[in-house]
Amino acid sequence: MSIKMLELSRGTPGTSIFPTVLYDESSLVLIDTGLPGFRGKIAEAVRESGLDDRRLAAIVLTHEDIDHIGGLPQFLGDADEADAARPDVYAHAADRPAIDGVRPIAKAPEERLSMILGQAPETIARQYRAMMSPSSPGNVSHELTDGQSLPFGGGVTVIHTPGHTAGHVCLYHRASRTLIAGDAMIVSDGRLNGPNPGFTPDYGQALQSLRKLAAFDIAQAICYHGGLYASERVNERIAEIAAQAI
Ligand SMILES: [Zn+2]
Repeated sequence: MSIKMLELSRGTPGTSIFPTVLYDESSLVLIDTGLPGFRGKIAEAVRESGLDDRRLAAIVLTHEDIDHIGGLPQFLGDADEADAARPDVYAHAADRPAIDGVRPIAKAPEERLSMILGQAPETIARQYRAMMSPSSPGNVSHELTDGQSLPFGGGVTVIHTPGHTAGHVCLYHRASRTLIAGDAMIVSDGRLNGPNPGFTPDYGQALQSLRKLAAFDIAQAICYHGGLYASERVNERIAEIAAQAI
């Protein structure tokens, strides 16, 4: 297998987040980076899964929300400090300005962001502000487009699924027939569900986006919130969610 799901605890039961790693013999690609300060936790989880975290070659961000991009400044900052190659960073053009720091993160206005950062150790907060300021060089090095194929983990297809954010993407890992769903759906009480309505500004569009997933034969879905959902009928369940009236 060339795909692994990581589980990162946030202290309270049921609030874990689940980034994904795609890998081959030479390199490793991380999908989403946790909250600010999560770099160490992610490296530890990668090592626990039997992989070498020093092989990180690329980071794919499913969207701009803080719990997905929060660890990015640390990954980039540590590479700069060690004079090592920066990992390539992939994101959709619609969410790129927030990830590059040229506009605020849509769902985390500045006061909220500073509250989140205030809780992080001061060095992380400083690194974060430096990396997410408009004066920094762009953090995103590659833009993702709908239908694009990337070689990671033997091959993934990018699926643009706007609604949760304008630039939200899912990835389909072809070898394992796994949908890396980001926040397009969640798993709660063992059940696959639509995205969290409280954090999904365009819920109608988010459901509409799920219809695109019918084109992929999905054996399992990894949701960033809730983790793995495997079933004989993942596609049927997604179709049910997509058909829900709003
Ligand atoms: Zn999220």
